[in-house]
Amino acid sequence: MKIFNTLSRSKEDFKPIEENKVSMYVCGPTVYNYIHIGNARPMIVFDTVRRYFMYKGYDVNYVSNFTDVDDKIIKAANEEGTTSDEISGRYIDECKKDMESLNIMPATTHPLATNEIDGMIHMIETLVEKGYAYRAGDGTVYFRTRKFAPYGKLSHKNLDDLEAGHRDIKVTGDLKEDPLDFVLWKPKKEGEPFWESPRCDGRPGWHIECSVMAKRYLGDTIDIHAGGEDLIFPHHENEIAQSEAANGAEFARYWMHNGFLNIDNRKMSKSLGNFFTVREILDKYDGQVLRFFMLSAHYRSPLNFSADLMEAAKSGFERIVTAAETLSDRIENGAEGVMSSEEADLLEQADRYRVKFEEAMEDDFNTADAVSAVFELVKFINSNTTGEHMKAYLQGLAELMDSLTDVLGLKTRRAKELLDSEVEDLIAQRTAARKNKDFARADEIRDQLIDMGIALEDTREGVKWKRI
Ligand code: AMP
Ligand code: ZN
Repeated sequence: MKIFNTLSRSKEDFKPIEENKVSMYVCGPTVYNYIHIGNARPMIVFDTVRRYFMYKGYDVNYVSNFTDVDDKIIKAANEEGTTSDEISGRYIDECKKDMESLNIMPATTHPLATNEIDGMIHMIETLVEKGYAYRAGDGTVYFRTRKFAPYGKLSHKNLDDLEAGHRDIKVTGDLKEDPLDFVLWKPKKEGEPFWESPRCDGRPGWHIECSVMAKRYLGDTIDIHAGGEDLIFPHHENEIAQSEAANGAEFARYWMHNGFLNIDNRKMSKSLGNFFTVREILDKYDGQVLRFFMLSAHYRSPLNFSADLMEAAKSGFERIVTAAETLSDRIENGAEGVMSSEEADLLEQADRYRVKFEEAMEDDFNTADAVSAVFELVKFINSNTTGEHMKAYLQGLAELMDSLTDVLGLKTRRAKELLDSEVEDLIAQRTAARKNKDFARADEIRDQLIDMGIALEDTREGVKWKRI
């Protein structure tokens, strides 16, 4: 399997640290509003990477954080006259709903920055002890960038060029030793959340959060660290500096970065105002269509968003769904018994699409080509199945189709319409299981309902549900 590694700027063979295991850390969103579809791109892309590893039999430990302490969250809280916790809690819930609609699997762990402050203080203290960090006069703790010799190795930036850039924008009254130094901890300000620390009461800088959460949940050295390409510098460069200086070990072996989702060739972003929230798109399209749209391009290529391209994605996805559903109907009516030798032959032929699909995914997760292989399989199914075929043959084709579309995280069969009473019966069983502390059973029922297109929400007034 080949992965394009931002560190070497080349495709490298993937070799896991531990056989058959992959540890992945994907930088998650800052939660002060609904996520936009640009934020959804890394979520969909790296969920697909995770699914392909699982398909190959790897055990994947997937960690993705929520940044729940940040200037923008504080600003949103002040504007609404509420707390940062209320804002971040609300938008974490909303983000999880969007993820569910896009069939993004929940991470193995979704840590929250505010629950990890002790770890951050600890890492900052280690950095101070090792001489990599210092406290400035106002209490701010900075990282001593020049002391970390490999600084720039990810973004391929040269320290002197960086310094020249900084000199132009040097602010007077700067308390840093060097303009390249970056913040690890900032002193508290009136009306802002803060934590006690040995250096001064305050809150962490953004970069230290990810270094600490990756270490806690995945260890000092991880297989893959990922995020959008805007994070390469300074965020990921700074994460490397902090982690490697503190832990004395390589931080991540492979760095993966997705290209931007653009509108009119400009990055979609909250600050430019040229964004659509996932929620807005879900009003018009099934989440699967948005997912399919994202996977139709290579993850490292820029992807332009437009209504026309979404319509094209919708009709492309419909073609797959129609083939899968027709196949399902035929399976229901197919004859029992052993398949004929012609059928066995055809089934063997169809396996070449799996080979093509895997070749595409092995080549740095080329989902665009993997989607083409699925289309070829659709064509094959449309031309080589009728109501006259044996069930076993049809099922063989359906299993092939399902295994490939599962990797892409696409649900190709519409859930059978459940009656309201059936949903309520299952919810009652789940509530009873939870009461008996049989959480495994409760989760199983919840997953079963999700598979059938029913989303649950636990509220103070009880469980609410809706069709998705
Ligand atoms: P943020 O909340 O801005 O930190 O972004 C969360 C994730 O979304 C990061 O991995 C960003 O790189 C990614 N991201 C933000 N905007 C875009 C975009 N327009 N296209 C692709 N990825 C993006
Ligand atoms: Zn991060």
